[in-house]
Amino acid sequence: MHQKDYTNVIDLRYGQDACFGLGKEIGKFCVMTMEIPWRITKNKLGGNPEIVVFVETMEEKWLNSICEQMPEFDTIVGIGGGMAIDAAKYISWKKGKRLVSIPSILSVDAFTTPAAGIRRNHEVDYVGVASPDPLVIDFGIIRTAPPELNIAGIGDLLSMHTASFDWAHANLKGKSEFPYSSSSIEKANKILQMLYGLLGDVRENTDKGLMAIVQGYIDLNTICLPIGHFRVEEGSEHYLFYELEERLKRPFVHGYIIGLGIYIMSQLQGNNFPFIKEVMDEVKLPYHPSILEIKKDDLLKSLLNVREYVKSRPKLWYTIINDTEITEEWAEAALQGLHFA
Ligand SMILES: [Zn+2]
Repeated sequence: MHQKDYTNVIDLRYGQDACFGLGKEIGKFCVMTMEIPWRITKNKLGGNPEIVVFVETMEEKWLNSICEQMPEFDTIVGIGGGMAIDAAKYISWKKGKRLVSIPSILSVDAFTTPAAGIRRNHEVDYVGVASPDPLVIDFGIIRTAPPELNIAGIGDLLSMHTASFDWAHANLKGKSEFPYSSSSIEKANKILQMLYGLLGDVRENTDKGLMAIVQGYIDLNTICLPIGHFRVEEGSEHYLFYELEERLKRPFVHGYIIGLGIYIMSQLQGNNFPFIKEVMDEVKLPYHPSILEIKKDDLLKSLLNVREYVKSRPKLWYTIINDTEITEEWAEAALQGLHFA
């Protein structure tokens, strides 16, 4: 499958043992990975890597020192979650070498995005451009991950439900930062409809369900990369998460907390909340604060502050949050169906 013109993924290979023997067809190769993904992949992959690097950090200095120490090679193979894949993307870009991505989990979309998320003095930055050739979706490997973490991959796709609404809302108010594109919104809706038809498969981590997530990300790229922004996918649901992250100063499983954002912001938008809640429940996306270990008091504070938060950050796009006052009564009611620890 060649789709270079439309998305970042040059070639896609998938199947129960899709990475089998790949190590013998990619010339001299180096591996960026972590212990567990490497353990479950190395025998399947075959071949003899020039070097296997266990990714310790995404600090630019460390990545550059790894780059300098690398022996001659043709291909860099990223095996694992977001960090290992992003580290491989970075090295592919720096060295101008072929990239092979083998995600071991679908919880984040690093394997379909062109830029690598690195850290410069602890601040996240997205740098470079790298395209997997091929992206390898090995169902056998991905199913060794906890199923709910693969389900988490759907969070950044279901966010199109609220983010697309925010973009349309901003446009109506004359506040859209980008030329409004109803065809982008339509395409986003098509991805959502595809997913709604496969919720049971995603929940059960079947081949079809795992591919639905991967295809969803690839199709999302075909909308977002040509127009240069992810407005159909990122909106108020993400902004609540940014506020919470700054407030609580700890990481979350991205798809879970985006699910919580969708739960709350679809209510603020008056945007078919019962339906999208039903979708998240059917697919068993864990979004309850009890799982995220967020206390009710913190979430309430976050909701009461989120409008000020986005207003003080001009880089954030115009969403429903800009236009709606969140009162304590509203927040209490919006959180009513959520489970807290
Ligand atoms: Zn996201």
